[in-house]
Amino acid sequence: MRKQSAAAFDYTAMATRSAEGILLVAGVVFVASLLGIFTRPMGLLASFWPANPILLGLMIRKPRLSTPAGWTSACFAYLAADMITGANIWTTLWLTGANLAGVASGFFLFQQLPRGDQRLRRPLSIIYMFGICVIATVCSATVGSSVTKILYDRELLTGFAFWFTGDLVNLIIVLPVALTIPSPGRLQAAIMSVLHKPAFIINDWLPAIAFILSLAGSGLVGGVGAFAYSVPALLWCAVRYELFYVACCSFLYCAVQTVLVTSGLYSSFVEGDALNSIMSVRLAIVLIALGPLSVASINAARTELISRLERAVRYDFLTNSLSRREFIEQATATLAERSLSGKGTAIILMDIDHFKAINDQYGHSAGDRVLVAFTSRLSAILGKSDLMGRLGGEEFGFVLSVDNNAQAEMVADEIRKAVEELRVGHLDGSDICVTVSGGLVFTRSPTTLNINLLLTKADALLYEAKNNGRNRIVSSTA
Ligand code: GH3
Ligand code: MG
Ligand code: MG
Repeated sequence: MRKQSAAAFDYTAMATRSAEGILLVAGVVFVASLLGIFTRPMGLLASFWPANPILLGLMIRKPRLSTPAGWTSACFAYLAADMITGANIWTTLWLTGANLAGVASGFFLFQQLPRGDQRLRRPLSIIYMFGICVIATVCSATVGSSVTKILYDRELLTGFAFWFTGDLVNLIIVLPVALTIPSPGRLQAAIMSVLHKPAFIINDWLPAIAFILSLAGSGLVGGVGAFAYSVPALLWCAVRYELFYVACCSFLYCAVQTVLVTSGLYSSFVEGDALNSIMSVRLAIVLIALGPLSVASINAARTELISRLERAVRYDFLTNSLSRREFIEQATATLAERSLSGKGTAIILMDIDHFKAINDQYGHSAGDRVLVAFTSRLSAILGKSDLMGRLGGEEFGFVLSVDNNAQAEMVADEIRKAVEELRVGHLDGSDICVTVSGGLVFTRSPTTLNINLLLTKADALLYEAKNNGRNRIVSSTA
């Protein structure tokens, strides 16, 4: 009975999720298509068509939406947007087929990349993205170019070239934003943190200011090379800002420069066949933007690597407690801070009893599980300002923020008892039990604040605890 109702519940939740997914795809494609339709020149194909890169980004970010229902809803959304704006049904069907051919092939190719590359956070991601965009655009242009022949009586090859450049430009401009945009919660948190920053730090804003000035500068100065004036500022942004903001800057750069080119400001380009020149410059602009985007990707990969390395140095891989080095650093800082305000601190060194015998009896991996269970149980006992570090194999150090020796002894004994009561299940069904011995030094005197000295004292007390029969704490005041 219970199983059945659980299954019914799962089915309902699944149906709700897939209905939400269909609505999301349809809504996004519909709105993005309308945006493209309203910004297109009368009687021509849209030069800004964000629906394809947005749909592609959505499918890559949420592959669970890539179902027959998801693609069908996208198809209907493309059709609906065109139909309500009075397009011919057969043209619309053809254009939608071309759009979907490009998005589906791009999605298939992106699926072959590792997740880091799908989020553009690896050194070669932008190169891969560019390659995929070229192939996807060849697919959409192959389907779409024939419609331009019928509609505008263009040569097939000319139609292909126009479709190809237009769609490629759209993909390269919008896709990086779609692939890197943070989730609504994270975006809100990022905006709040900027708004509530205690002080306006001009250094943080300099790259953005330089970028805006460079855009204005290229508009004011004009001339053949004007569209490259923003490159140094874009590179500066790429090194300083998160990938998503760099993608936004690159979008803004391409959009502004495209408007300037199309408006004839850089008129020296527009010689002979004006349309050809404009398409060529638009392509050049987005290709230039690939450089800063690539720098931002490499920077994101580097930042991620550094933070992983930092974590590996600061935390013990197995138990997630502080590493020896980090423990010493943080303990020194805590001691100094508490002694300044005359507060007491306890240093405890603990060592699991007869741990070698645990390894011998149950195996090394069971020993590892005991270490993990030991630390996770103890972190529940320790306060927020207390520290726990793994100083050696089965030897742990603690820094307790306590008022006096009696309080420190109480916490140490609580730890000892918790370990005594700890039961770690073994594969054969039995429970593994361990005990721990500890040496505790309490101090509030600034003269004894050297952490290494205190640890040596604690070690001597631990030795005493071991010699006195284990499963006990020996304490003293420094
Ligand atoms: P005592 O009560 O005197 O401390 O006895 P003991 O057996 O705990 O002491 P000893 O120092 O002789 O042994 C410590 C053992 O801890 C030896 C080593 O194999 C084991 N050990 C050290 N690091 C790890 C680890 O990461 N995982 C596991 N499973 N065992 C470890
Ligand atoms: Mg031991
Ligand atoms: Mg030991």
